[in-house]
Amino acid sequence: MKPSNSRTRLVMGNWKMHGSLQTNAVLLDAIKAGLATSPVVGELALCVPYPYLAQAQSALAGSAVSWGAQDVSASAQGAYTGEVSAAMLKDFGCTWVLCGHSERRALHNESSAQVATKAIAALAVGLTPVVCVGETLADRDADDVECVIADQLDPILALGAESLSRLIIAYEPVWAIGTGRTATPEQAQAVHAFIRRELAGEGAGEVRILYGGSVKAANAASLFAQPDIDGALVGGASLVADEFLNIAAV
Ligand code: PEP
Repeated sequence: MKPSNSRTRLVMGNWKMHGSLQTNAVLLDAIKAGLATSPVVGELALCVPYPYLAQAQSALAGSAVSWGAQDVSASAQGAYTGEVSAAMLKDFGCTWVLCGHSERRALHNESSAQVATKAIAALAVGLTPVVCVGETLADRDADDVECVIADQLDPILALGAESLSRLIIAYEPVWAIGTGRTATPEQAQAVHAFIRRELAGEGAGEVRILYGGSVKAANAASLFAQPDIDGALVGGASLVADEFLNIAAV
């Protein structure tokens, strides 16, 4: 039985670069309609592409679903063509922003130090950064999981207890993202427990830690039963209203 704690479960969708005004409207309507009959345990949120923040805001305002973005600039304003600041995200009612998703680390060479500066920019305007960490399959095969995660966490831990208490960590093994291959609950729990010990060392042991990587309604219950898993970051399954709501209802 999962020990009780004060950490509210959070299920957060990440639409990645999917959607259109038309398909989003259908999906958002279906999620809102489903909320009438499907219980949500804890909090439910969606991180949508920048151009659809206004749509998410107008569709979700007043509902049980909060929204956020998938990246943020480390800078507050200025000559940063193509970048979007944390204050701009606040203008669209965002609560959350993903920082350091593995796709950004891999495709945009984001370093852990840069990820921390993005988290600082988010915190400065009252957004909650969801800082993503996770090892590759090669790291896991080399038995390097804790080393890799510790390196990714280092600049975040350096922010100190007060900042840490205002962010969320998402553990997303790269080999489980979009592959249909989920970490076993035991594999995920082992890494979550390691992350929690690292956070506790900075006086922030109660920070929420989400698991991400091919989470579906069928595997969510066994993941959520683990003592250090406080919810999920959900990619593909967040694009299907019933599946997303069923994860949140587990
Ligand atoms: C993600 O995009 O963060 C993710 C976990 O994707 P998926 O659920 O599709 O593996």
